Amino acid sequence: MNTRIDLHAHSTASDGTLTPGELVHAAAAAGLDVVAITDHDTTAGWEPAVRALPAGLRLIRGAELSCRWEGEDPAVPLHLLAYLFDPDDPDLTAALSRVRRARVERGERIVRLLQADGLEVSWSEILATARGGTVGRPHIAQALIRAGLVATTSEAFGPDWLGERYRLPKDDIEVFEAVRLVRAAGGVPVFAHPRATRRGRVVPDELVADLAAAGLAGLEADHEDHTPAERAHVRALAADLGLLVTGASDFHGTHKTVRLGAFTTDVQNYERIVAAGVTSVASG
Ligand code: AMP
Ligand code: FE
Ligand code: FE
Ligand code: ZN
Repeated sequence: MNTRIDLHAHSTASDGTLTPGELVHAAAAAGLDVVAITDHDTTAGWEPAVRALPAGLRLIRGAELSCRWEGEDPAVPLHLLAYLFDPDDPDLTAALSRVRRARVERGERIVRLLQADGLEVSWSEILATARGGTVGRPHIAQALIRAGLVATTSEAFGPDWLGERYRLPKDDIEVFEAVRLVRAAGGVPVFAHPRATRRGRVVPDELVADLAAAGLAGLEADHEDHTPAERAHVRALAADLGLLVTGASDFHGTHKTVRLGAFTTDVQNYERIVAAGVTSVASG
């Protein structure tokens, strides 16, 4: 039988719209055999997702770390998926809580910029919509929609809004430090959507080679933000460097249009991740 594996999904523990429990039920309903919960900079969704796990579904516990590469000025923001690490590792948990604090500070500063231009958005209301989860620009985007300033999330991420005019950097984890932290915590680091030029600047292949030498395990190739040519490029690069490759939806509920299982990972690559991680796969 064909095993369906989706290794990148968000819940209300960050900027998804389904609770962790709803996410695992939606994954089963979508016909997945394996789903990974990868909220931004947090493991808060792990426990509720495990508790709600439906029979027959396997859960990979992970996170998506906000990172920066300092090879350009300003630094290039990038995302590192981390799978099956020890959630109690003190160095990694300290780095994650620092980034979450930085997200709150940045969010508040973005809202102040909007208010300075006379726009009616409220930081306390935005923070409330994050419901204690990792706050991010999608929460601000929803406030812009509620205020009638933009019609869609994509418009909110356009150059007139959060994509450029009201874009502020946050204090991300330096990417080599992130790879080191994830490996030291027994986890498996995979570079998320590494060629997504439609999101902004991407990093050179030489950096990916250096990260591979530093412990990076894999590259996410099949992702909606990659064109077919970009997917092929990532696969070839992974083959050159001996890295595993994944495909995944990066599901965010109604904050994005992509559906669970829209892109998937094959069993061989999944098994490489499972073999390399210190935390077990949870089974329902
Ligand atoms: P942040 O982590 O706060 O910088 O916000 C980045 C998040 O915004 C990503 O993880 C996506 O969930 C979302 N995002 C980024 N670009 C877009 C876009 N063009 N349309 C919709 N959501 C986006
Ligand atoms: Fe997100
Ligand atoms: Fe991402
Ligand atoms: Zn993601």
